[in-house]
Amino acid sequence: PYDGPSADEILTKRKEFLSPSMFYFYKKPLNVVAGKRQYLFDEKGRRYLDAFGGIATVSCGHCHPDVVDAIVSQTNRLQHSTILYLNHAIADFAEALASKLPGNLKVVFFTNSGTEANELAMMIARLYTGCNEIISLRNAYHGNAAGTMGATAQCNWKFNVVQSGVQHALNPDPYRGIFGSDGEKYARDVQDLIEFGTSGHVAAFMSEAIQGVGGIVELAPGYLPAAYGSIKKAGGLCIADEVQSGFARTGSHFWGFENQGVVPDIVTVAKGVGNGIPLGAVVTTPEIAEVLTRRNYFNTFGGNPVCTAAGLAVLKVIEKEKLQENAFVVGSHLKERLTALKDKYEVIGDVRGRGLMLGVELVTDHQLKTPAKDETLHVMEQMKDLGVLIGKGGYYANVFRITPPLCFTKEDADFLVDVMDYAMAKL
Ligand code: PMP
Repeated sequence: PYDGPSADEILTKRKEFLSPSMFYFYKKPLNVVAGKRQYLFDEKGRRYLDAFGGIATVSCGHCHPDVVDAIVSQTNRLQHSTILYLNHAIADFAEALASKLPGNLKVVFFTNSGTEANELAMMIARLYTGCNEIISLRNAYHGNAAGTMGATAQCNWKFNVVQSGVQHALNPDPYRGIFGSDGEKYARDVQDLIEFGTSGHVAAFMSEAIQGVGGIVELAPGYLPAAYGSIKKAGGLCIADEVQSGFARTGSHFWGFENQGVVPDIVTVAKGVGNGIPLGAVVTTPEIAEVLTRRNYFNTFGGNPVCTAAGLAVLKVIEKEKLQENAFVVGSHLKERLTALKDKYEVIGDVRGRGLMLGVELVTDHQLKTPAKDETLHVMEQMKDLGVLIGKGGYYANVFRITPPLCFTKEDADFLVDVMDYAMAKL
């Protein structure tokens, strides 16, 4: 039983003592006090099916006992900075993480967040190439520090401060983009940007394989091979931001970029990697990593023993419980059922994504694709009342984001769709 402060008391404190920029879902925000696997519990003990926690933190499920054990036993033994002394945890997890990556991607730098990982990736690319210019995609989210805010391309997340050196290419969005699903056509814009917006040389191209914050936009097929080709010719490095699409989430592959058959020069990870523990990483090749020996480079807590012990435990759980296969099987079933729902409700404009990274875009007009923002909010609210938590995103805030912990079951998927069906019937 929970005997802590009420939701109202927390809200009052939050308003007085926390940043006014913090936001929350739902008219009456949920007070979550416990989590187990794919479930969250509020202060009254009410259980919610969590179909969004995957993105925020958990890949193998809330409070997975193996991960909790790893964290607790490492905390009892030692927690320290990673600089100055040796410890096996950081080395063990680096080895395990590198073993999951293709090609020569085997040098790992640890950070505490996705923002830091992307900042570092951008700096490495600039140092390695001697160029400043970076190209990212419109509608992308890459973080909220100076460099990554520049790479982010949605005005909602950009403050009016200096963010130089990033240009944004046309988004290869199969649903809203002008070239439909023709990835190669969109990629010509990358070539155009290089030719008309830079000196002809660039530091890097950075993108997600499936945009998360942007509303589960899976890049049009053929886009990454073509864009990577242009970037390589211009001397740049290709950075894959796998903060959301990596770590088994897409089911068919361990990494999102593999779905397009490319191998990046730098990969960044965070979020689900630590199952809720602050942990991010940049993985690159030994040759590229060499640039950081030009100066001292460290991150006090990046790769600390507790976080990396958690990371290693997460990888083991993903393998032991076959969570990638589960993401594929359950995700395919869920997508099929959501697609069937699209035939039933006019308000659903698009169902997309892969594995357990799915999106449902709501529109009031199929031709004009007018965002159905109010309907999105309404259905989300209803679903919460019926015990199912989903996310929302997209520039127009009209896309449901379904990114549950990877232990989500077929029954959970059915329940989610039944509840969404019920809520939509009431619109
Ligand atoms: N990249 C992507 C694709 C993200 O979705 C996010 C966070 N939403 C980040 C980077 C930044 O990660 P963090 O919030 O851990 O800094």
